[in-house]
Amino acid sequence: MGEYEAVIGLEVHAQLMTETKAFCTCPNRYGAPPNTLVCPVCLGMPGILPVLNRAMLEQAMKLALAVGATVHPRSKFDRKNYFYPDLPKGYQISQYDEPFSTGGSIELKVDGHRKSIRIRRIHLEEDAGKSMHQADGSTIVDMNRCGVPLVEIVSEPDMSTPAEARAYLNEIRRLVRWLDVCDGNMEEGSLRCDANVSVHRKGSEAFGIATEVKNMNSIRGVERALAYEIERQIGVVEGGGTITRQTLLWDETEEIARPMRRKESSDDYRYFPEPDLVEVVVPSEWAERISRDLVELPRARCMRFCQEYGLAEATAEVLAGERGVADYFEALAKESGDPRRAANWVQGDVLRILKERNCDIASFPVSVSDLAGLMNEVETARLSLSGAKKVLDRMIETGRSPESIIEQEGFAQTSDAREIEEVAREILAKFPSEVIKYKSGKKNLFGFFVGETMKATKGQANPKVASEILQRLLS
Ligand SMILES: [Zn+2]
Repeated sequence: MGEYEAVIGLEVHAQLMTETKAFCTCPNRYGAPPNTLVCPVCLGMPGILPVLNRAMLEQAMKLALAVGATVHPRSKFDRKNYFYPDLPKGYQISQYDEPFSTGGSIELKVDGHRKSIRIRRIHLEEDAGKSMHQADGSTIVDMNRCGVPLVEIVSEPDMSTPAEARAYLNEIRRLVRWLDVCDGNMEEGSLRCDANVSVHRKGSEAFGIATEVKNMNSIRGVERALAYEIERQIGVVEGGGTITRQTLLWDETEEIARPMRRKESSDDYRYFPEPDLVEVVVPSEWAERISRDLVELPRARCMRFCQEYGLAEATAEVLAGERGVADYFEALAKESGDPRRAANWVQGDVLRILKERNCDIASFPVSVSDLAGLMNEVETARLSLSGAKKVLDRMIETGRSPESIIEQEGFAQTSDAREIEEVAREILAKFPSEVIKYKSGKKNLFGFFVGETMKATKGQANPKVASEILQRLLS
């Protein structure tokens, strides 16, 4: 960016995981055959009367309270009027000048520095249908998404790099999943993000004119689109041009942002109060109860992991990356009685396996008690650490218990001194010049001999016994 600075604000839409839609009783479900989850209310037929889904407000309140926002005792719904084929009512029910929640913040850690991003407001609204553009140039529309409950989370323009925007989105995604209010799936559109971005010369007081970038369907996509748009705006300014206020659509495959339309201002939407819905009233006891029942939040949990289990902050952060993983780790720490080793197993092997198999912790096939059992086999020296990792892989492949794999597949570690000594002697005979170097002072070759002995026993020699034997043979 050189002598320029960027100013980035994000608007994130999150679909809430309620049973039914925002204002009718249609199921709120993704992936059903098109136009099967609809009724006169969400299709906007004449004479309909929407009724607010209590669960929608409750989930939205959880999110607002989790970011430290103020939940207002009274707010109202408004109609946002615009025409689009996927909006049969001709308006979207949203909240305009009296959102149910304002304020709050998200704490980020980007490239080692911490930053707090202020949240301007979180408001309730309903989703529109989905237009699908066909290869032949026609467009078909699926109304199943009409009326799906959304929260819109509007940040202040507090971010200044694409990396900060990525970190912010990661944090929002983690939080909505942690609170069980949204699955955070950007590919399926349950979490969506629009960005407002402008650039100005460093040191200049006035911000530049912002453009809006839409249509990014991954967190990486948001980062790339912002980098592209910042670069483009700097190019325009450098070339003596001016930035026009407009909306651009990000093209993921070509990695460019194309102008879509002049950006609407709020006047264009002719907002007015929704006459069919009463105002939203949140008695303080209700907000207090939700606040009290809130699960322990990621940051608090991370700090507790450091204090209670003596973990390094980086490790605690990885373990608290997802609530299911944090729960699994804590159960394993308790069951095994060894939190630090439990942390190593979860951070290393469990997360590696989840990534390889592209599954989440809920479908991780090894129970906490089986993994604790495996850790115990290492503790009692029946298995070497590397042997245990192989047994874990076999447990995943076969679904069998650690005991049966150790017994039937011969992973057990041997502490049989005679057997190990035989192998150690072979190794020393195989590397006579290394032995001479060792004896003439290159003591760091010792690890090499241990390693070779372990390799020759396929990792089954007890490394402690092997070291003792090699010490003796070499002295
Ligand atoms: Zn409906």
